Amino acid sequence: MRAPGDRCGRGDRAGQVLREPTARDLAAAVGLDLAGVAGRAACDLLVVGAGPAGLAAAVYGASEGLDVVLVDDVAPGGQAGTSSRIENYLGFPRGVSGRELARSGMVQAVKFGARLVCPRSVTGLSRGPDGFLVRLDDQTEVTARAVVVASGVRYRRLAAIAGVADLEGRGVYYAATEIEARACLGREVVVVGGANSAGQAALFLARHADRVHVLIRRDDLTETMSSYLAQRLTHHDRIVVHPRSQLIAAHGEDRLDHLTWRDEVAGREVHVEAGGLFLMIGAVPRTGWLRAAGVELDDKGFVATHNAFETSVPGVFAVGDVRAGSVKRVASAVGEGSVVVSAVHRYLAST
Ligand SMILES: Cc1cc2nc3c(=O)[nH]c(=O)nc-3n(C[C@H](O)[C@H](O)[C@H](O)COP(=O)(O)OP(=O)(O)OC[C@H]3O[C@@H](n4cnc5c(N)ncnc54)[C@H](O)[C@@H]3O)c2cc1C
Repeated sequence: MRAPGDRCGRGDRAGQVLREPTARDLAAAVGLDLAGVAGRAACDLLVVGAGPAGLAAAVYGASEGLDVVLVDDVAPGGQAGTSSRIENYLGFPRGVSGRELARSGMVQAVKFGARLVCPRSVTGLSRGPDGFLVRLDDQTEVTARAVVVASGVRYRRLAAIAGVADLEGRGVYYAATEIEARACLGREVVVVGGANSAGQAALFLARHADRVHVLIRRDDLTETMSSYLAQRLTHHDRIVVHPRSQLIAAHGEDRLDHLTWRDEVAGREVHVEAGGLFLMIGAVPRTGWLRAAGVELDDKGFVATHNAFETSVPGVFAVGDVRAGSVKRVASAVGEGSVVVSAVHRYLAST
């Protein structure tokens, strides 16, 4: 176990000049890579994914004296980090940006002594003599006595729809941040999807775009979106929700120019000049690497958990969006990440 503040991995590289560094070079220079992690004695807990669930597990684990390593393949924050404003997280009546929440969570985890390793992807998990061998994308192995999987989900694409794949990043987006919104200033935009992420994107985009069309497959938003969000969408004067409507094609040469969708209620095709298409159509769990480790997944690939977030492999736990039956909210991910630490303690004590 480690004392808070006893961090390693921050090599003495002050003053070093990096020329055209990769993200990994930069991470190594500021102490976010594997120095002091790989090839040393087993850590108590390795957390896969630094979204809200993984950050919470790292904060609670490290603050309770566990030697915690937190690995993320992109950067801390996960999906929440891409949200411009989270309005339903307890304690932030005016909302909080996902980036700010992630930054504070990361500082808090590191303050308690957790070691953050990113950008590094976990690609495999097996049993070793001293615990679990967690394999990273460059085949390095880190030994951990327990593992918390908090690897979340990845957005679905609509690559089969004409024009969509070609225009990705040039008018077709999977996140609505300031950057995308600026490109749509004063234009019409289309959001596809009826869940909370679609609702949030629509409200955010309505601050910049002339009009926001939200295409949903169902008759209304009641079953798929939190009612506070659905209400705000329905009463917003620049947002139009189109029930039973499906995107057919995206058109444009250099960038998206216009869109066609099928409106089943009116029984016709609709063409709209659009500055942006935002695909918010759900997500698939990031669990491919767990199958080979013998961890039980459900038919959609989410991790099945039993008592206290333990998976079918004792010592491997799953929390947040990646878990079968999870609620898919920041608060529940944070809650699960916090609570799982007591189960980790019990497991470590029993071994
Ligand atoms: C645009 C948007 C807006 C949202 N708004 C709200 C909101 O207002 N309120 C709310 O409650 N919820 C909101 N949500 C949902 C909320 O963000 C998620 O429920 C929450 O982020 C789930 O947290 P998580 O830690 O389980 O997973 P994620 O946030 O998905 O984080 C998982 C992390 O694991 C990393 N990872 C995955 N696989 C690996 C691997 N093999 N190796 C290493 N790292 C890996 C990923 O890169 C990612 O950083 C929103 C989601 C989106 C997309």
